[in-house]
Amino acid sequence: MIDLHAHSNRSDGKDSPSQLVRKARAAGVTTLAITDHDTTDGWEEAISAAQSERISLIPGIEVSTRAKIGMRSISVHVLAYLPDPNHPGLSGELSKTRDSRILRAKAMVARLSADYPISWEDVEQQLSPGATVGRPALADALVAKRIVSTRSAAFESILNKSSPYYVSDYSVDTVKAIELIREAGGVSVMAHPLIDFPAGKSDLDLPTKHFEQLIAAGLDGLEVNHRSVPEFAKAWLRDLALKHNLIVTGSSDYHGDGAKDNLLAENTTEPDQLKRILDQASGFEPFL
Ligand code: AMP
Ligand code: FE
Ligand code: FE
Ligand code: ZN
Repeated sequence: MIDLHAHSNRSDGKDSPSQLVRKARAAGVTTLAITDHDTTDGWEEAISAAQSERISLIPGIEVSTRAKIGMRSISVHVLAYLPDPNHPGLSGELSKTRDSRILRAKAMVARLSADYPISWEDVEQQLSPGATVGRPALADALVAKRIVSTRSAAFESILNKSSPYYVSDYSVDTVKAIELIREAGGVSVMAHPLIDFPAGKSDLDLPTKHFEQLIAAGLDGLEVNHRSVPEFAKAWLRDLALKHNLIVTGSSDYHGDGAKDNLLAENTTEPDQLKRILDQASGFEPFL
């Protein structure tokens, strides 16, 4: 059972990297990838836990990026498997992103604090040291203060993109990210493609040019099997993968109990697709 997308408390997951590995093992996972947002901080702990739990571990990153489709600027998450964590271009972009996320979270707290009893200290209490900050930490602070009942409730209301409290953050351009992942010896897979695609649209409206531009830049795969990928788009994505010989993965995007509904191994990746990732990657050794 191969699950190639999961978060620890080095970003917005609830579990430490070793707890995450133990839970994966208990759920029957035999190969797990740790893919925290914009950081490699959890890799070392996850690898030692995988050694004692006797499961395979693929170090990865979920890179926050931004792309333009026509006039719209959209957020695109790109999974990077086995890149060299010390590659200057890639690690430079990641640290720039993390720094910007701190300023952005502080700006959101400043807006929220005008109307709700919440401070930056409340958010800090929800974070493990050095973790990548995102709206989930703000959500956790709002839950702790009983301003909202759950993370999801926070995302549906005051943390929503259309809320007056929302502030956007810096992300590297998607093409640039794909190029950097390749330079760093990693394999790039677009996480949960089309997650924000307007509901009710048909596959005739899907952004073919956008995908072909990213494939031309070196995008290696698509995470088709993920609970947030719209059902109507899955066949279209599989055809695209076939046409361009892309890797197809499926994964959970687990964030910990109660953080999100996603359960470990609820979607999985076929062994032949994992093999393609392992054959192609050259930036870091997997623990097998
Ligand atoms: P940010 O990158 O700070 O804008 O926050 C986006 C992150 O919030 C994503 O990586 C998700 O893991 C998480 N997220 C998005 N929607 C929800 C939701 N409805 N419930 C819980 N977490 C969410
Ligand atoms: Fe997340
Ligand atoms: Fe994501
Ligand atoms: Zn994720």
